[in-house]
Amino acid sequence: MAYVSAMRCRSCGREYTVQAINVCDFCFGPLEIVYDYDAIARVISKERIKSGPLTLWRYADLLPVDSTDAVDIGAGFTPLIRAKNLAKYLGLNNLYIKNDAVNPSYSFKDRVVTVATTKALEFGFNTLACASTGNLACSVAAHAARAGMKSVVFIPGDLEQGKVIGAAIYGPTLVAVDGSYDEVNRLCSEVADNYPWAFVNINIRPFYAEGSKTMGYEVAEQLGWRAPDHCVVPSASGSMFTKIWKGLHEFESLGLIGKVQTHMHLTQAEGCSPIVEAYTAGRTHVRPVRPNTIAKSLAIGNPADGVYALRVIQESSGTATAVLEEEVVEGIKLLAEMEGIFTETAGGVVVSGLKRLAQQHAIKPDDLTVAFITGNGLKTQEAVAGVVKPLVVKPNLEAFESALHARA
Ligand SMILES: *Cc1c(COP(=O)(O)O)cnc(C)c1O
Ligand SMILES: [Zn+2]
Repeated sequence: MAYVSAMRCRSCGREYTVQAINVCDFCFGPLEIVYDYDAIARVISKERIKSGPLTLWRYADLLPVDSTDAVDIGAGFTPLIRAKNLAKYLGLNNLYIKNDAVNPSYSFKDRVVTVATTKALEFGFNTLACASTGNLACSVAAHAARAGMKSVVFIPGDLEQGKVIGAAIYGPTLVAVDGSYDEVNRLCSEVADNYPWAFVNINIRPFYAEGSKTMGYEVAEQLGWRAPDHCVVPSASGSMFTKIWKGLHEFESLGLIGKVQTHMHLTQAEGCSPIVEAYTAGRTHVRPVRPNTIAKSLAIGNPADGVYALRVIQESSGTATAVLEEEVVEGIKLLAEMEGIFTETAGGVVVSGLKRLAQQHAIKPDDLTVAFITGNGLKTQEAVAGVVKPLVVKPNLEAFESALHARA
């Protein structure tokens, strides 16, 4: 069972019974889930979590759905890898990669979608939908297939092939919109008002967003039940960034880890960095921008959780960093060549952002640091196609050796 008592407006605090809505009728503020933490505290323990499944459903007590009928294709409990080579290159001694590129549909979005899909079924919906920058479309289509639901996924028309095909293969109605993500999102809000569909990131958003907390839980558990000193995180709407922080704090208040003293570092690509711009200018509100970046999964010009992300930066004494567009590809190559992990453009943003933080001594050499790699490089091959330079040879030793020498 779920330990949820209500939904509450993050702006005015008004409470609602649990239903498929995402904004307050009164002030249009976003709604969030209210838990009965006393009840959770009575059942939860490290042993109970450790004996759970090797997916994010091991944290079911802290998720807003009934997990007995979870729509589960294996999201979560991804590897946390000690990155010795990259650490050495950056002058660090204590660096980990949280590799969410290996989720079932190859991005962290499977965390939020497994929770949202389970809730959508509980609510009785039979069609799952989303407004996506790419990875969400793949995950929604995959989970809908598993759940036996129909799906309708909306994407901007200029996405990478790996994401278009990576969604289409599961058989959704795939709608490529001639416009930016922000225009896709506006269209979807209208569609959501007119069709009885579960839009995971619109009317189901309060439930969806909770799935991201499991990133925080897992890192804490995998580090031996403690919070890291630094998290370096990519950001689009800002939601995941705030939920990693929330997850760590829930573990602290339940006594599963000690005091959280984590600094939260947000990263974006220069071509779409509205949250970084607000942070740098010392503003508490985000001004929308028109995205122009190769990091398409992060290309949200008007981030819904931007204000809350800025608060987390402040509360955690964190930072926000924008990396140059050319640094995105450098970051992808660096992680691949140093650690054998092929990430997408969002991961390139994180690795280059991490490099800057190390150079600026915002991260000290011995600090326990986790870089969050949230998507798979096979989905954004266009970004790095320039690295393909095979030796082309006739099938004999002489031809091979002369090509090898020519290359050297
Ligand atoms: C969606 C996404 C994010 C960030 O999502 P938020 O909207 O900030 O929660 C990060 N990385 C990848 C690869 C994504 O697809
Ligand atoms: Zn309100």
